Amino acid sequence: MPRNGAASLAVAHKVNTDTATDFDAVIIGAGVSGLYQLYKLRELGMRVRVFETGTGVGGTWYWNRYPGARFDSESWTYGYSFSQELLEEWDWEEHFAGQPETERYLNHVADKSTCVATSSSRAA
Ligand SMILES: Cc1cc2nc3c(=O)[nH]c(=O)nc-3n(C[C@H](O)[C@H](O)[C@H](O)COP(=O)(O)OP(=O)(O)OC[C@H]3O[C@@H](n4cnc5c(N)ncnc54)[C@H](O)[C@@H]3O)c2cc1C
Repeated sequence: MPRNGAASLAVAHKVNTDTATDFDAVIIGAGVSGLYQLYKLRELGMRVRVFETGTGVGGTWYWNRYPGARFDSESWTYGYSFSQELLEEWDWEEHFAGQPETERYLNHVADKSTCVATSSSRAA
């Protein structure tokens, strides 16, 4: 069983198992920064592959799941403001979101951008 349970199972469906090696851009890490780059580069029509050593997306919010882990910024400040669509379709449940909600949000963002290769995808 993956360490983050259902979230990892959902991510497993997103794993791109093709063997293509020809990309316009390669992104290391599927944290907040990597997902931003993925979204923007795919918006430009580029062929992109993200390598993430974890079995799920979220970076900090995937790895840190201790009790009480949460934002110290107001949740809305963490929303991707470059996309009106993303802003409008996500309602933060808490003013200072906890790790589970933040991870769900980042999985939602990743769901909108394919080609996230996770699990054993550690870039040298
Ligand atoms: C409890 C907590 C609360 C926080 N609260 C806030 C807040 O309120 N506001 C705020 O702005 N920031 C906050 N932060 C900081 C937070 O870390 C950043 O906001 C942000 O999540 C960092 O994203 P990142 O994508 O830059 O890096 P990371 O989240 O660290 O992601 C990097 C990813 O790259 C992967 N990776 C690294 N090397 C490789 C490799 N060679 N091959 C494959 N994959 C690789 C890692 O596995 C990781 O998943 C908080 C952090 C913690 C721990």
